[in-house]
This record gives sequence, C-alpha cells and structure tokens, in this order.
Amino acid sequence: MIPVQGYAGQTVAVLGLGRTGRAAAAALQEGGADVVVWDDGQSARSAAEDDGMILRDLTKPQSFEGVAALIVSPGIPHLYPAPNPAIAAAWDAGVPVDNDIGLFFRSFATRDWDNFETAPRVIAVTGSNGKSTTAALIHHILVENGRPAQLAGNIGRGVLDIDPAHDGEVVVLELSSYQTDLARAMTPDVAVFTNFSADHLDRHAGLGGYFAAKRRLFAEGGPDRAVIGVDEAEGRYLVNQLSEGPKDDRVIRISSGQKITRGWAVFARKGYLSEFRKERQVGSIDLREIKGLPGAHNHQNACAAYAACRTMGLGPKGIEAAMRSYPGLPHRSQVVAERDGVTFVNDSKATNVDSAAKALQAFPKIRWICGGLQKEGGLDGLVPHLDHVVKAYVIGREAENFARQLVGTEAEICTTMQQAVASAAADAAKGEVVLLAPAAASFDQYDNFEQRGEDFMQCVEDALS
Ligand code: ADP
Repeated sequence: MIPVQGYAGQTVAVLGLGRTGRAAAAALQEGGADVVVWDDGQSARSAAEDDGMILRDLTKPQSFEGVAALIVSPGIPHLYPAPNPAIAAAWDAGVPVDNDIGLFFRSFATRDWDNFETAPRVIAVTGSNGKSTTAALIHHILVENGRPAQLAGNIGRGVLDIDPAHDGEVVVLELSSYQTDLARAMTPDVAVFTNFSADHLDRHAGLGGYFAAKRRLFAEGGPDRAVIGVDEAEGRYLVNQLSEGPKDDRVIRISSGQKITRGWAVFARKGYLSEFRKERQVGSIDLREIKGLPGAHNHQNACAAYAACRTMGLGPKGIEAAMRSYPGLPHRSQVVAERDGVTFVNDSKATNVDSAAKALQAFPKIRWICGGLQKEGGLDGLVPHLDHVVKAYVIGREAENFARQLVGTEAEICTTMQQAVASAAADAAKGEVVLLAPAAASFDQYDNFEQRGEDFMQCVEDALS
C-alpha cells in the first residue's frame, strides 16, 4: 500500500465504496488522515459500517465542515451528465475534489528515494482502446528483461494498493479518461496515448470533453517523454503541442499503417514494426509470428509498448524476445479453443464500435458473435469493416434492431450466447474464426464484459464436447 502523504491529522471524505474507494480510505488512514465515507447505495454503506468505517452523509454542504478534501471513485459522475450531489456539495463548501490517481502522484515519492541509485519511474498509459493491452505488455517486457516493475490503475491492482517502490522500479499505470479528468496531480515520467475514438460521450458531454480529459495527462503532467499515436488528428495535435520541432525527441510518434521517418518514431506496416531515429532505422521486429498480439490494432499496441520500453533504455532484441512470450489478456483477442481448423476467439472487451472494427480486421474469415447494449452513435462506423464477416450471430435483448443495422451482412438473430455459439460452431469451416467482438456493452444480459466472455468460453466448451 502507498500511505497517502499530506493529510495527517486532517479529515478526508471518500465518496464511493467500491474497490477504489476502499483502497483510498485505507491508504489515507495509513498516512494518518481521519477518514469519513459515503456511498449512494445503502448496501455499500452498511458493509462499510460493518468494517468499522465512519459514515457521513456527504450530500449536504454542511457535511464538509472541517474536511480537507473529497476523494471520488471513477464510476461516479463529477460533471456530466450531472454532478453527483456530494461533489456539488463539496464545490459549494469550497473543498477540493480529487481521486486516487491524484493521491498516488502526491504520495509515491518518499524520503527513502534519497538512498536509491535509480529513482523509481512511472509510465502512464491512456487512449481510447488498447490501454490494458499496452500497459500489460510494457509490464511484461520490463519484467522479462529483469527490470523490477508493477502494473496498476484500471488494470490489476488499484494505484494505492501497490507496494512502495524499490530502487529502480518502474510502475506502469493504465489510466481511463474518468481518472485523468479529475486527478489534481499527474506527473508520470513517460505518458502514452494509444489512439482516439468516440467513447464515454455521456460522461464527457461529447467528443471534445472526452479528448480534453485524456489530454490533461500531457498538459498537467508535463512528462519527460510522450509516446503518442498519430493515426488520428487528436494525436497529431498533441504531438504538435508538446514538441518544439520535428527533431524534438521528447515525443515518440507511433502509427499502425503510416511510415514515419522524422524525429523519433515507431510504426507497424504489413506486420513489421520499425523504429526510426534521426531519419535512420534503428530497430525492426516481425510481428506476424507473435501469437499474443494478432491484428493491426495489436501491432499499434506493440509499437506503443516498444517505444515506452525504449525510453527505459531497453534494446530492440530484448523487447522482441519478451513480446514473443506475451501471453495476452483475458477477453482481448484471446484464443480460447481450436478444433478442426476453426479458431474460437474471445474479444468480449470489444465494447465499442472502434474496437470491434479492429477485431474484425484481424482475421480473414469470421463467424461473428455481436450485439448487446448499443452505445451512442449507432453502428454506421462498423459497416465498412464487415468484409471479413461470413455471417453475424446476433445476441442481446435488442438483437433484431442490432442486426438490421448490419447492412449487407447475413445475420441470424440468436439472442442468447448459447444459441449464437452453437450456430456459429455448426456453420464454421476450416480456416474460419468464431469471434466474439460484441461492439456493445454487456449490461442488458450480464454484469460486465468479463462475465460475458466467460459465458462465451463455457458455451464454446459445451459446443465442442
Ligand atoms: P482498453 O483498456 O483501452 O479498453 P484493451 O487492451 O482492454 O483496451 O482492449 C479493449 C478492446 O479494444 C479489445 O476488444 C481489443 O481487442 C481492442 N483493442 C486493443 N487494442 C486496440 C487498438 N490499438 N485499437 C483499437 N482497438 C484495440
């Protein structure tokens, strides 16, 4: 645990009592703060009380008498579609609102560091898609190359749950837009921006708000190095803002598809990763044989992870060897079974149109299981990417409506996962992939995307037994 610094003897309020809020409360207490907590849900409040936490109704400004800060969990809206009443009350009372990421950055460095040979460093990864994969891959590469590292944030452990850093250790953080939007301190040594596409529009009041939230990691933090995906205008704008000129190698441009030879750049084309520095190629990797990273979207992640690891002083060969042993993450391009030349792939994490479109480009012939709770913006963005789909098997409560939007593609209304997997497995021929990449949230039928992915795996097992 990272004890929170700066609040000893003061009262700090914590709003939201899920994993993040509980970890924040414990870390604040460890640092000597008096903690009061609140959650909109009665059952979360009762559980906290049973654990000895002190409840305070934070929905009224007078509740903030003597409170030094309010710490908010990422699931709680702080501005759009409407501020949570407790956050509005903190504003009225003049109490600073922060989150666990802000607490982490103000508490990570300690006096012990004075005796370290190499100061610990933080690599923070944000972007619309590929954050978890990129963060996990960076962590894997560092560890495989003998560098002590910890992985935290949106993935694995909460940021305040990690162990205090050792000499020379690297902490790899995955940060969502909800987290970067609110944190009052963000000072990573290296910040990574994978790519940009529409998501979470309700929480940010549209695309501009969503980008502004992500951009804070670079604007507020002033990282020593920035690794930035330049395949969208937002990334190119960020590069321009952060660099003094084309030769400024504090910024590493990454791309999936474009050849970039100016400045410091890492790009992937036709399955090959190339690194250019000062207009010379200094590294290359054949990514096609790397099982854990299929498709152009994963090659983009590979470029981002490669670049981040280069800033840590690793060499191309060591990075390549580690990529080969990258096991992949559950529910992201995860191969779950192979039978008679048919591969079954679980990409339940493809919850938006962009990530599903990328998954659909990663394999040549696809029996596609899709559908669920549709996100804002419709499915039009998918239609140009349906050329590899042999047939769609549509699940979800709104399966018919979903299928209607898949213009020009044969679609079967399956509604349930069981039906979809059974039909797809029965239809699939050698060389085809049965792919779950829903392009929708899971909440109409499941608690979360993990549960949906697990159901898929179970249904595959049943269909093949
Ligand atoms: P995040 O943490 O940003 O949600 P993940 O690595 O968990 O990213 O991947 C989420 C989904 O996006 C998965 O379905 C995955 O296959 C897809 N994906 C992964 N990397 C990329 C990328 N670079 N571009 C687009 N989609 C991606």
